[in-house]
Amino acid sequence: MGSRPGGYSVGVIGGGQLARMMIPAAINLGLTIKVLEEAEGMAAELAATGVGDYRDLDTVLAFARTVDVVTFDHEHVPQAVLRELVAQGITVHPTPDALQYAQDKLLMRRRLAELGLPMPEWAAIESAEDLGAFLAGHGGRGVVKTARGGYDGKGVRVVADAHGADDWFTALAEDGRGGSLIVEELVEFRRELAQLIARRPSGETAVWPVVQTVQREGVCAEVISPAPRSDGRLAEVAAEIAQTIASGLGVTGVLAVELFETTDDRLLVNELAMRPHNSGHFSIDGSTTSQFEQHLRAVLDLPLGATEAREPFSVMVNILGGPAEGSVQDRYPAALAAHPGVKVHAYGKAPRPGRKVGHVTASGADLDEVAFQARGAAAFFQD
Ligand code: ADP
Repeated sequence: MGSRPGGYSVGVIGGGQLARMMIPAAINLGLTIKVLEEAEGMAAELAATGVGDYRDLDTVLAFARTVDVVTFDHEHVPQAVLRELVAQGITVHPTPDALQYAQDKLLMRRRLAELGLPMPEWAAIESAEDLGAFLAGHGGRGVVKTARGGYDGKGVRVVADAHGADDWFTALAEDGRGGSLIVEELVEFRRELAQLIARRPSGETAVWPVVQTVQREGVCAEVISPAPRSDGRLAEVAAEIAQTIASGLGVTGVLAVELFETTDDRLLVNELAMRPHNSGHFSIDGSTTSQFEQHLRAVLDLPLGATEAREPFSVMVNILGGPAEGSVQDRYPAALAAHPGVKVHAYGKAPRPGRKVGHVTASGADLDEVAFQARGAAAFFQD
């Protein structure tokens, strides 16, 4: 047994909603899918799951030996664990060499700079003095980010003072990891976009249309596919950027490239995710091939599916927090009756303020109507 190229069983490390949404795609293709969860949770009722710590080499190795390819629901598996899996002959996609750039924003900025990709101006900083020097050259403001461990806006802070990140420098020094913070110019953007691409180990790629993402308090609230006013050059440039990153970094599986569209009409790379991404949830209902099916095809090195939209527009709205009391399903009788054309996805998570507990997608030819339907349906699940 154990990992062998050419097999059709996939092991997903991490048991969040992304792993959960890979399961229906795996079932439809007749694949075997297993999930390594930290605690028995969302995927357990749907797939064979193991429970264990993704930071523990023996746990991950034992899990990996039962499948043909290992992939991820999140980016937190330590490099040392990943590299040992590869050393033991296990097939891992994305590979540790690629995944490191989604794990560490400093490595990512350095590598994208080498590839000549457009980015916000940035610098690695190790002290308040470094930060002060950057701010002085950038209008007195900047965005400080932890290189590792941030998500959903945690680890991102707008500063206007050289001492605005002192607590982070102290915390990094205390846990022995040393220096790495980065600072970026505060980009004046018109909107945020995301470009999804899938790439197989053999090199085939497929892009979805570029989408617009709407963030609230650092969390993705809504996605419009395709991004309005994105026909022509904008879509081409976004796709070219994603192609350059996917092949330049050797990404395998789905890659999401988060972009800023600046007020002076440039596209700048914000950050990368090497897995299915919130900006691609619309594709389950809105595209010929969903990002979850495509990720499985890509990591198994199977031919990729078509990524055309099934309808001219799709709007995905996250259900953030969920009902103040009871479950998402308690709201089904009213919500489903009011919005029969909308697709509702619930992740089996307990409602909690700010938590992503599900999403809804509406598709159709009239963007205003589609957005109205999706927002209206999502509102049934939030108080
Ligand atoms: P996370 O890893 O938490 O997703 P991001 O780097 O994507 O962090 O930043 C979260 C949000 O902060 C972005 O979606 C954007 O709205 C804002 N942001 C990040 N970097 C910049 C920047 N350089 N200029 C302006 N806004 C930024």
